[in-house]
Amino acid sequence: MIRKCSQCCDELGPWEGRLCLGCQNRGPNWKWSASDLAVLVLEREPAPLTPYDICRVVLRDYQRDIPESMLNFDLAQDKRFCWAGQSIYGLFRHGLVAGPRNLGETGCFFMAAFAQALDIDCFAFALKSAGYRFQTQSLRAAMKKHHSIQWLDRSRCEVPLTGALRHYFEGMGVAEDGASLDDMIRRFGPVIGKGAIEFYQRSIQALRSASEVEP
Ligand SMILES: [Zn+2]
Repeated sequence: MIRKCSQCCDELGPWEGRLCLGCQNRGPNWKWSASDLAVLVLEREPAPLTPYDICRVVLRDYQRDIPESMLNFDLAQDKRFCWAGQSIYGLFRHGLVAGPRNLGETGCFFMAAFAQALDIDCFAFALKSAGYRFQTQSLRAAMKKHHSIQWLDRSRCEVPLTGALRHYFEGMGVAEDGASLDDMIRRFGPVIGKGAIEFYQRSIQALRSASEVEP
């Protein structure tokens, strides 16, 4: 079961509290930490941001000048922030999974959650549709290097969800325990399925258009 804020009903990741920070009544003199300020900024944003942009909004809205290098460290360490691409972070509410900190870990989790073999171009399309930002070539390279990804041929791969892999995902911070890991798998597997269907529909459409213009 994915938790939701009881005030605004936005979804909360496994490492966020019971309420969004923005829905907590802390009073005007409450001193938020730099990480909390970044969460407050991201809670209001429709999409993930870079550390540079988060610092800019914190300065504008909270008059706090956080060094970008310090925020970079917090974003990488604090599990409330979800990796969305090279130096881009968002929250669970942006459709991102908690835990992974690079493309290989992200790809491994999503492919295991999907539980079927998939063409890498199709998988890249589905992950990008889910909100991740990267080059397809980088995904291919990261998936080639990852120890848990099995390649069936040059373009198709799969990730069998073993007990060891479940421990790996829990250690990474995808979920608090085995039951909530199942919730995350149920939540994110269909995201890839939806993206894959759209990828093939577009491919068919492109083939039809190409055959129509041929003499
Ligand atoms: Zn809320």
